[in-house]
Amino acid sequence: MKTFRKELWFDVPTRRAFINITPKVQQCIDESDIQEGLVLVNAMHITASVFINDDESGLHHDYDVWLEKLAPHEPVSGYRHNIGEDNADAHMKRQIMGREAVVAVTGGRLDFGTWEQIFYGEFDGRRKKRVLVKIIGE
Ligand code: ZN
Repeated sequence: MKTFRKELWFDVPTRRAFINITPKVQQCIDESDIQEGLVLVNAMHITASVFINDDESGLHHDYDVWLEKLAPHEPVSGYRHNIGEDNADAHMKRQIMGREAVVAVTGGRLDFGTWEQIFYGEFDGRRKKRVLVKIIGE
């Protein structure tokens, strides 16, 4: 069995963003030379997510509105976590959107369902953050 590990780095200039990282993950599979196996993609921070859904800007706007309703950033003082920081909402948004995605690798390609793409969800940006890509297979 072969294994492959790579970190993808992000420095998002805004507090929140959704970034399609599918091409970067496919590039990792290409580099790994693994044809059949599994790829794990996970955020290495507790205020960012990796998830799978549609690459559609209306949907991403809807996610942002929905997440702000569930865990509004303001008022910052409304969270006990926000002593010396202001990112309690980002922890909660990450919890809802998830830590990782696992996708089958078939014939050296991401074996997606219809319209599936992999996204990095940033909820407390403006600093460097990482995503781990781990691939196992043959
Ligand atoms: Zn925090």
